[in-house]
Amino acid sequence: MTNFPDKYTSENQRVAETEARLKALIEATSDVVYSLSPDWSEMRELDGRGFLKDADAPTTNWRTDNVYPDDLDLVNATIEECIREKKIFQLEHRVVRADGRPGWTFSKAIPILDEQGNIIEWFGTAKDITQRKEAEEALSKARARSDQQKRLYETIASSTPDLLYVFDLEYRFTYANQALLDMWGRTWEESIGKGLLEIGYEPWHAEMHEREIDEIIKTKLPVRGDVSFPHATLGTRVYDYIFTPVLNEYGEVEAIAGATRDVTDRKKWEESLKELNKELAGTNRELAATLKEIAKVNDELIKANEKIEEGQIAFRLAVDAANFGTWFIHSNTREFITDARSKELFGYDEDETLSLEQSLAQITDEYRPYVTAKFENAIYNNGDYDVTYPVIGFHDQRLRWLRAIGNLKADSSGTFSAFTGVLMDITDQYLAGADIRRAEESLRMAVDAAGLGTFQIGVDDRVFTYSPKLKEFFGFYPDEFMSYEAAVSQVHPDFRDLLAANVERAFSENARFDMEYPIIGFHDEKLRWVRAIGEIQQKEGKEYFTGVIHEITEKKLDEIRKNDFIGIVSHELKTPLTSIKTYIQLMQAKFSTTEDDFLSKILEKADLQINKMTTMINGFLDISRLESGKIHINRQLFDLSDLLKAAEEETTATVDSHITVFAPIRSVQVNADRDKIEQVIHNLISNAVKYSPAGSTIRISCTSDDTFAYVSVKDQGKGIKPEDIAHIFDRYYRVEGEEMQSISGFGIGLYLCSEIINHHHGSVWVESEVGAGSDFIFSLPLDTEMD
Ligand code: ADP
Repeated sequence: MTNFPDKYTSENQRVAETEARLKALIEATSDVVYSLSPDWSEMRELDGRGFLKDADAPTTNWRTDNVYPDDLDLVNATIEECIREKKIFQLEHRVVRADGRPGWTFSKAIPILDEQGNIIEWFGTAKDITQRKEAEEALSKARARSDQQKRLYETIASSTPDLLYVFDLEYRFTYANQALLDMWGRTWEESIGKGLLEIGYEPWHAEMHEREIDEIIKTKLPVRGDVSFPHATLGTRVYDYIFTPVLNEYGEVEAIAGATRDVTDRKKWEESLKELNKELAGTNRELAATLKEIAKVNDELIKANEKIEEGQIAFRLAVDAANFGTWFIHSNTREFITDARSKELFGYDEDETLSLEQSLAQITDEYRPYVTAKFENAIYNNGDYDVTYPVIGFHDQRLRWLRAIGNLKADSSGTFSAFTGVLMDITDQYLAGADIRRAEESLRMAVDAAGLGTFQIGVDDRVFTYSPKLKEFFGFYPDEFMSYEAAVSQVHPDFRDLLAANVERAFSENARFDMEYPIIGFHDEKLRWVRAIGEIQQKEGKEYFTGVIHEITEKKLDEIRKNDFIGIVSHELKTPLTSIKTYIQLMQAKFSTTEDDFLSKILEKADLQINKMTTMINGFLDISRLESGKIHINRQLFDLSDLLKAAEEETTATVDSHITVFAPIRSVQVNADRDKIEQVIHNLISNAVKYSPAGSTIRISCTSDDTFAYVSVKDQGKGIKPEDIAHIFDRYYRVEGEEMQSISGFGIGLYLCSEIINHHHGSVWVESEVGAGSDFIFSLPLDTEMD
């Protein structure tokens, strides 16, 4: 060895050293080390390092042994490219690991070239990157999952009307959903990373939330509250919010997530419902109280009525005491009705009937023509009837001198409706030549006994005479003189003009006088309500305006109190009712946009009931206005047919339980209060609906003659008994009967109708047959000017 030249020796040594160092380096690396033939067909050597299978002898199977089948194409393509271009091979690909499981490697091979630049060998390393790759894969999967989750959350967060947001520990917003940005009226860029104050929260509000965040950091517990503050476009709203701690893996609070809900509407509904409940309870109580009060007033009215009846009995007793007979001639049947005393005076027994002819037959022959003539004159010419004549008793054949005084009741058209009178036995006075006035005196006493005051005014000379009782009503002492003017000046000023006008009418038109008015006593200054009834009568060839006055103070004051009360209560009830109606309409508007059928139906029913109640209350208001003289007839010229067409439209729209038939009508001009006439028609149709069976027909028609228009509402209902017909237009009168309890009403509708029609100088009446139906008809004067 020593023969070798130095240079050679040192060259060899250098090569050996390099080799040794290379080996050491290879030993030191944990990577797989391999060498390959120039075309990669043969793996010459491979140190698998436990990762890949070792190849101690050259092998051509290395690709199937080591490369994961799916990646083979990729590996081959890269190899080809690198051989062609003689460039470094580097590729991450999957391999079959020594234990047969798939793994990942980063393989890098460098071509070794000879002097001519041809590849003589490839030398490479392969790093086991399985773990890194798996981590990466897991990460990317996790990222994909989280991206998907994030998209999901984002969709939820941006489509909910609730406000969602996250605070960091410095109270800055790190997330805000679209609803919140909308509420602020700000963009994401303008908001994220900003604190509450910067966003525009008021200092108290910002501090409140900051304190809450501090609290959550400390306690790790959620905080809940509500607050109201202004929305960018919707005005002030009420919000319910909850802040929740977001904990990191160490259980520390890392952020605060918040959710806020706009509960303005809910709060409002809660409030309105509470309010509504309260109002309903209140209204119910008030209504119950009203009904109780009405019942009380009714009782008192009944008592007052009883008193009047007592008065009538007293009168009757007085008549009996004076031993008068009474008689009555019916206008239609001409039936002659007499009491026992009258029968006795004509010599008949109490249980026998006495006809007009029979009674006339008992009159002596020479007087009969005179009495008959007087009688006919009284009936056909409204002449006075005060005759004295002798009769011979039928059974007892006794001669009696009788005086008959009669009173003809004529209706407005002048035909007589009833003829009534008294019969006195004046035999003694007559025979004794005593003054007939004694009989008059007993009549006067009878009138006094019944508590009636009487008066008489001469039509020509206006001489005013009266009974002591009458003077009492005006507050004068019995021994004092009272002139007609003195009496009138005690009448309450509000009624004085009307009284004078009515008295004048009695004089000039021979009209019946019937009026209720208050008097203030001259000395005692006591207020007394009286009813005065009077008419023009003939006496001894002269005309007198005569009549009676009786006191009705108690009844009247009761009525006034009752009407005032009803007026006040009805008025008070209207306000809560109106607000309930508004609330219901609000709710209806609200629920019309939802699908809540049940609530909508209930609201519709509630609205209907409120309308019913309003109609009732308006009825009571009308009554009290009417009674206190506050009803006004606002006349206007209009076509009744137009009004009926409107009624037809309304009825068709609202009544579906009955068949309503409106007969065709011609134009009829009337001068009347359109609203009130409409109310009358409406009332009559409502009654027809109320009191006739569902499915039956209601016919409405309108006719006219020279002077009147007539409207008729005809139903096929239960009809009305004759005894009820006499009263159904009275205030508060309802027909009694079991089925009536299920039909609501106060008995004021027809009363109002008749008052309204009377104010128009028309009439209203009913033609009815029990079981067949009723026909309500009213007449209105055709277009003529009236007061
Ligand atoms: P209400 O209907 O409120 O009871 P009204 O004054 O309208 O009061 O009617 C008074 C009464 O007359 C009713 O209670 C009813 O008995 C009777 N009545 C009214 N209209 C009719 C009708 N069309 N058919 C039968 N009875 C009727």
